[in-house]
Parts: sequence; structure tokens; C-alpha cells
Amino acid sequence: MKRTENWDAEADIILVGGGSAGVSASIAASRLGKSVILVERYGFLGGTATAAMVGPMATFHTRSGKQVIKGIPEEIVDELVSSGGSLGHIKDTIGVCSTYTPFEPEILKLVLLSAARRAGVNILFHSWVHETLQKNGRIEAIRLYTKGGTVTLKGKVFIDSSGDGDVAAFSGVPFSVGENGVRPQPMTFIFKVGNVKLKETVNYILSHREEFWHETLFDDLANTPVIGVSGFYSFWKEAQAKGEVDIPRDRILFFSGIRPGEVVVNTTRIIQKNPLNPWDLSHAEEEGRKQLSSLLVFFRKYIPGFQDCYLVQAATQVGVRESRRIHGDYTLTAEDVSEGRSFSNGIAKGAYPIDIHDPEGKGIILKNVGGNGSYDIPYPCLIPQKVENLLMAGRCISATHEALGSCRIQATAMAIGQAAGTAAALSLDKKGEVRQVSIPELRNRLTQMGALL
Ligand SMILES: Cc1cc2nc3c(=O)[nH]c(=O)nc-3n(C[C@H](O)[C@H](O)[C@H](O)COP(=O)(O)OP(=O)(O)OC[C@H]3O[C@@H](n4cnc5c(N)ncnc54)[C@H](O)[C@@H]3O)c2cc1C
Repeated sequence: MKRTENWDAEADIILVGGGSAGVSASIAASRLGKSVILVERYGFLGGTATAAMVGPMATFHTRSGKQVIKGIPEEIVDELVSSGGSLGHIKDTIGVCSTYTPFEPEILKLVLLSAARRAGVNILFHSWVHETLQKNGRIEAIRLYTKGGTVTLKGKVFIDSSGDGDVAAFSGVPFSVGENGVRPQPMTFIFKVGNVKLKETVNYILSHREEFWHETLFDDLANTPVIGVSGFYSFWKEAQAKGEVDIPRDRILFFSGIRPGEVVVNTTRIIQKNPLNPWDLSHAEEEGRKQLSSLLVFFRKYIPGFQDCYLVQAATQVGVRESRRIHGDYTLTAEDVSEGRSFSNGIAKGAYPIDIHDPEGKGIILKNVGGNGSYDIPYPCLIPQKVENLLMAGRCISATHEALGSCRIQATAMAIGQAAGTAAALSLDKKGEVRQVSIPELRNRLTQMGALL
């Protein structure tokens, strides 16, 4: 990396967004000996997993329990476990997938920062990308808002792991928000409560099974260290009928944390807002905290074990499930996911069902992955139209609204990130032209670095 006196800089690879995908991508590219600058608007890494407190990670395994994601994502989990920040892959008691990987967001911030720095990644925090400079279909530089004014970063190849596809959108790549008149998935404001007597909660669940989602693994609830809970239908209906909660959903959803007595609540729902519109986003933050307040009262009044619970932490920002879906050389479809399709140009796998929280209101739609329980993500999903030297990673790859309902989750985002970082490094031999990367070489490098394809 080269730096000038006025804070501008230059590197082989410029990467925007230090979330699950971006960190993985930056580590992969740095390990291949390339200079990388990772730009992040916050002062920590992890993105949605830390800033929005979204967890547990889903999922490294098919429904039958076969592990389909390893490599850098698995290294991060191993490091989380050895740092006391995760219990590793454990059974999903809700029954959506076979395993979840619960973690503590504050420890994840430490693990990601140390892993990225060990790999040699240069990190620029507190910097917002707002513009790209292009010539003949290539990005030459990006411009950042910083506290000290505008900073320019020049690179040979760029990775957009901003979740929202900011770099691609600012470069004129076409994108969709919502599909066929259907809005993007709703936003959710996550918070954590403490002092929960979970044994009481589990005892209640075991004696009121009809009140919970039909796939719940009741037999495992008492023995699994971290549990997910989806239901409490009657209490929820009663509170809605009495006007005690005004949240458009049909059940409550929470996961116990990795520490005793802590529970992460994923029950707020903010619908019909555009996560790219700052006014809507402002409303969503306010609405999220309003719903949090009513949920605290609800939990204490209705849910066994939560009588004396208190608020431990609320997210830094509202969680955005879906915003821009960047148009790429190939678009992952619902059928690719639900039929468990494999592709000869696959660079990462997904195994999580299509999980759509109703954009307009109450329900959740779940569609399992067919075939052998996993599907491939083709490399062209990472290549945005119209630009030669840009790759997408994570939530903003080219996918339909439904397919994104599966491939957006954290384990898959990290696996896609590893592929994007590796492809970006390989593209440097081809002047950063990401379409010229040899797929067999990319796949070879990925498997050498522990990825499962
Ligand atoms: C409510 C909710 C529940 C979910 N539940 C689960 C779950 O249980 N399990 C699971 O695995 N997944 C879940 N997901 C999905 C998953 O968390 C995300 O899709 C995934 O974390 C996205 O990773 P990413 O790296 O693509 O993007 P992000 O993690 O969002 O990272 C993007 C990064 O880019 C930065 N950034 C954005 N724009 C700019 C800019 N212009 N300049 C500089 N930096 C920028 C952001 O600050 C952020 O750090 C859920 C998501 C939500 C919202």
C-alpha cells in the first residue's frame, strides 16, 4: 500500500465493507500476497453480525448434517471458540436447519480485527464510500467521506462487500430493490436481555408444545446449550389484542446467548420502509427502539423465566435483510436453491432454506434446499454488469429476492467473501479483469485454502 501526505492511498485491491463477506475476502486476498485496503464506515468489523447484533451464524451444514462450508469461515469460528466467543456449531432447536453457530458480537469484533491484521489487511475505519471514479468501464478510484474531508483510494481491482451494493450502484451497475412489486424483506432491530431464568422458559415450552413452531426439536431443548425459540402464539395474540404490542408478526423469536441468563431477541419488525432512504431508515431506528420498549414489558409480563429480565444491549443499527440486489452476469434463482443445483463454476455453497419474512406483514415463508441439501453459487453471481474490475461479495450478489432469502446468511456470505478475495487476487494477473479469471484455477486455490466446493 502507498499513502500520500493528504491521506489518499493506493493498493492492489480496495474493498468496501468489513462485514462477514468483506473480512473473509480481505484475508483471502492478503494471504495471496496482494496489498488490500478494507474501508469500513464504523470503527469495528463484523457489519450486520456485530453492528446489528444479528446471530447466530447460519449455517455451515445441510439439514442432514453434512458440513458444506469450511475455509476462512471455519477458521473464524475456531478462533471465536478458542477466545470464549462461541460454542461452535450446535443443534438448531427451532428446526430451520441442522446447526447454528452462536457467538458473542463483541468477541467477534476482536477476532475479525485480529485475523484481518494478522493477514496484513490495511483497515480504514470511519470512512464512507460515496463515489467511484471510472474510465472505459473500469473503476480507477473510490472517494470516501471522512472526518478530515474527502479521501481518494486508487486500486487495480475493487470488491463491493457493503451489503447494499454501494460501489456497484455508484458505478452505474443496474440493480433491483424488491421484485415484481414485492418490497424487500422487513428490517429488525435486535437487542439482548439479561437475568433470564431459561430453565423456567424451557419447562413451559415442554408442557405447551402446541404454542411453538411445529418443527421445534422439543427433545433437545433441555440439553442444547444455546436454544432458539419460535412461537408463544397465544401470549402474543393476547398482547396484540389488548394493544400492548403493535408489531406486525405472528410469533416471537429469540435465541439464548452463549452466556447464562442472556437472550437475544429477534422479534421487532419494521415493514414497508426502504433501507436506502435515510428518512425511512431514521424512522426504522426509532420504530425499532419503540418496539423494543413494548417487548421488554411484554416479556416481563407474559414469558415464564423473563419476569426480572433487563436490557443489556441494543444494536448500533437496525438490521437490514435486503436492499439492492446488484445485477450480475448470472442471477441465482429460487429454483437453483430449492432444487439444490450444482454448477461447474460454483465458488461457494449455501445450505440454508429460503427464509422470507413477509415484506408487508406477519408471516415467515421457509422453503428447504432440495437435492443433496446444498447448492452452488456460480462465480458470475459475483460479477456485476458493466464494470470490468469489480466483484460483489455477501448479501449484495446477483440473486433474486427469493434466492437471497437463503444466500444472504453469514456462513454463506463468508464463503462468498473468500471466493471474491481469491478471485480478485487472481485477476491481478489479468489487469484486474474479473471475467478473465480461470474458474478451474479459482476453484483449485479455494480448495487449497480449505474451502469446500
Ligand atoms: C434481522 C436479521 C436477522 C438475520 N438473521 C440471521 C441469522 O440468524 N443467521 C445468519 O447467518 N444470518 C442472518 N441474517 C443475515 C445476515 O446477518 C446478513 O445478510 C449478513 O451478515 C450480511 O453480511 P455482508 O458481509 O454481506 O454485509 P454486512 O455484514 O452488512 O457488511 C457490510 C459492511 O459494509 C459497511 N458499509 C456499508 N456501506 C458502506 C459505505 N458506503 N462505505 C463504507 N462502509 C460501508 C457496513 O458498515 C458493514 O460493516 C439476518 C439479517 C437480519 C437483518
